[in-house]
Amino acid sequence: MVARILISACLLGHPVRYDGAAKPLIHPAIDQWRREGRLVSICPELMAGFAVPRPPAEIAEGRSGEAVLAGHGRVVQANGTDVTELYVAGAQAALALAREHACRFALLIDGSPSCGSRLIHDGTFSGRKQGGAGVTTALLRRHGVEVFANTEIEVLRNRLSQTSGQRIPS
Ligand code: SF4
Repeated sequence: MVARILISACLLGHPVRYDGAAKPLIHPAIDQWRREGRLVSICPELMAGFAVPRPPAEIAEGRSGEAVLAGHGRVVQANGTDVTELYVAGAQAALALAREHACRFALLIDGSPSCGSRLIHDGTFSGRKQGGAGVTTALLRRHGVEVFANTEIEVLRNRLSQTSGQRIPS
């Protein structure tokens, strides 16, 4: 069986971001993986029940997705509404889908409080980013999924060539 890859729905061109936009990733590897049946599309925020469009949200106080999972961080919308539980629910839904499809890898868009893997916003809603991962990425990594940012597609391609694809640990 080919190694499957969870992929942010907005990278596949679906207009599901908070502002109703998509961020399609145009790369030959995407076409190849689609043909091979490797791609499993996810949007943790829609899976949690958010609509499009929705207010932007960030992890508060410069914390990370790992801190949120540990109960030491919150996800808030720009108007101050605490949406932590929904972000955790979205992450759990993404993990369930990863397990259902035996995904060992994920390619997620950077900067999102859900899907970020190298960068997230700093919680000030000023556009500033800092190193860190979103809530979904943190949960997937906890459970053995290797998460790559959209800027690391070549790294993922090389990684795939090294593996025959294994089930993620439970
Ligand atoms: Fe894209 Fe992830 Fe945000 Fe959904 S949660 S819109 S897949 S970045």
